Amino acid sequence: MGLFRPITCLALLLFAGIVAQPANAGSPDTPLQVRVQLKWFHQYQFAGFYAALEQGYFRQAGLDVELIEGSPEVDPGRVVTSGGAEFGVGNSSLLIDFNKGLPVVAVAAIFQHSPFVILARTDPHIRTVKDLEGRTLMGESHSAELTAYMKKAGVDLGRVRQVIHSDSVKSLAAPGAERVDATTAYISTEPIEASRYGIPYQIFNPRDLNIDFYGDTLFTNQRFAREHPQAVAAMRDALAEGWRYAYRHQAEIIDLILEKYRPGMDRMTLTLEAQSLYNLFLADIVDIGYMSQTRWQEIARVFAETGLLPSNYTLNGFLFTPPDAQVPDWAYRALGWAALALLFGGLLIARIVSLNRRLRLSLAQLETANAELAELSTTDALTGLFNRRHFDAALERELARAVRHAQALALLIIDVDEFKHYNDALGHPAGDACLRRIADILHDNTQRASEFAARIGGEEFAIVAGGLAPAEAIALAERIRQDVMTAGIEHPDREDGRVSISIGINCIAPDQPPTTAPELIAGADAALYRAKREGRNRSILHEAD
Ligand code: GH3
Ligand code: MG
Ligand code: MG
Repeated sequence: MGLFRPITCLALLLFAGIVAQPANAGSPDTPLQVRVQLKWFHQYQFAGFYAALEQGYFRQAGLDVELIEGSPEVDPGRVVTSGGAEFGVGNSSLLIDFNKGLPVVAVAAIFQHSPFVILARTDPHIRTVKDLEGRTLMGESHSAELTAYMKKAGVDLGRVRQVIHSDSVKSLAAPGAERVDATTAYISTEPIEASRYGIPYQIFNPRDLNIDFYGDTLFTNQRFAREHPQAVAAMRDALAEGWRYAYRHQAEIIDLILEKYRPGMDRMTLTLEAQSLYNLFLADIVDIGYMSQTRWQEIARVFAETGLLPSNYTLNGFLFTPPDAQVPDWAYRALGWAALALLFGGLLIARIVSLNRRLRLSLAQLETANAELAELSTTDALTGLFNRRHFDAALERELARAVRHAQALALLIIDVDEFKHYNDALGHPAGDACLRRIADILHDNTQRASEFAARIGGEEFAIVAGGLAPAEAIALAERIRQDVMTAGIEHPDREDGRVSISIGINCIAPDQPPTTAPELIAGADAALYRAKREGRNRSILHEAD
């Protein structure tokens, strides 16, 4: 009878695992009301919001969303921290607000790169951004990255006359004293408008000086993030879904904007805006929402370097950490399987024990039972990552999904360099500890719902990441490789004394003819082999021939 209690518990656990759903905010029936302060007038820039509203993604996530239109005078940071809205669309300047004590929390990068540029009249006296000294620049609030850009370009800001943004690039051609020489602008909209008004212009782009900031960023306030973490995560995911919809149905969203949000606007301008956004940020919209701590650190560094942040700035508490309950779908499935495995295991043990009582079960039989238990498991006992068994099944599934939805998919195979020597020199237990540290790094770098890491062999790991284009897969691989180097795990036989890894990458593009899991693995393996041959501690993308 003593055995039935654990089995009952297991059954309950299994039940809980199956009924538990990915957390959302309220419920579709009694949704949580939230307001979103946009940073500008309604336009394609916010297409993901309109699509998520119209398609019911917010509602399904338990959110009743109201959009509040922005303007040059509205500061979304202040609105969201003073109770005027629960969410806002801001940009990298949020980091400055945060360090000034404004309790903002960045939730998701909507655009991976900033569309902010300076648009200047083509004037014989303005040839570089430095020539703005002595001229008039019209600016909106929170264009700090443009300030950083000008400072980095050596512009004496004291000598630039800065005036409030008038809402329109027409000010570049206004008569008399109202005319300005330059304006802060979104590369996706204002150049188009300037062309339509026949204003000759030139563009000064911060990216020319390697300033590459996040663009529109979804944020909330600290209190809301603390009290409603599920709602925040649900908002982020529903918005991403909205953007994916908007990407596939541009004309439909433009119709919607003209009908519901900005009737006065003309279709051509919106169409050009959409095209320009997608040309610039296509890959990023696929990857919408992704933010990395490292990239924010780099942004902070540039701000500090140009004096916009104090040298003792902090990022502590600035980035939204998803609630524990907000586990990705595959983890729920894994939980279900694990519970099932435990239940089966429990039943098996119950049977074995009772048999043992009656028949004095032999040790050999117990071992078989253990092996069967291991068979059912999907996690690797040493590292806690998924195991090979799960990897094989999940890769097939993700591949089929990618083909069905015409999405990209990336596979990374990761092998520890010279690991045999490591074991030989420091012993097997140290080797195990090293594998666990590397596994932790892989786990930390695969936090999106569409990706997971697995241990697929002795010192070999894999990452499957849905939606990643080759450039992003390389960036992920390099981040991981760098993190392993930074961890500084001592290796007596490697040239710089540290453990390193080699990574082979293989990607399928959305429009690629179908491939199979073994082909995908073979390509990544070939790239890994090349990485080893070319000296190790590097990542290489497999190029199909
Ligand atoms: P390379 O850079 O070419 O990958 O060199 P390598 O030494 O890593 O080569 P190889 O992949 O052939 O060696 C794998 C070694 O990993 C063999 C074994 O000593 C070690 N290893 C495999 N599984 C485990 C494990 O679970 N724990 C420990 N400690 N070591 C393991
Ligand atoms: Mg190996
Ligand atoms: Mg190895």
